[in-house]
Amino acid sequence: MSSPSVYLYYNVKVIEMVQFIEKVIIVEGKTDKKKVEEIINEPVEIICTNGTIGTGRLDELIDYLLGKEVYVFVDADKSGERIRKQFKREFPEARHIYIDKNYREVAAAPENHVAAALIQANIHVHSKYLI
Ligand code: MG
Repeated sequence: MSSPSVYLYYNVKVIEMVQFIEKVIIVEGKTDKKKVEEIINEPVEIICTNGTIGTGRLDELIDYLLGKEVYVFVDADKSGERIRKQFKREFPEARHIYIDKNYREVAAAPENHVAAALIQANIHVHSKYLI
């Protein structure tokens, strides 16, 4: 039987974990990052893949992402699909956010479209983008 103080400590730790799960959004390039950063209205970390990811770097990245809430938000094109595949295989718990195929690129999609895609994933956005 564990002592009350150990039990209390355990509960506090669990509450901290629930409150501070970090959100990370994976995008392809700097322009995507800038755009998403401007639209989002909550603390998230945005990481650029700068194209498809080599195996060594992917392993490192996945180590870093473990325990975090991860979203993959890449272009609707070949390299975007390749990145999604890498994550689906190596980090299946990541959630995927899609833009309409007609826009092809996150950076090229209208702000309100990007905002709508983020909202569907329960990510908070600035209300001015909710047109
Ligand atoms: Mg692209």
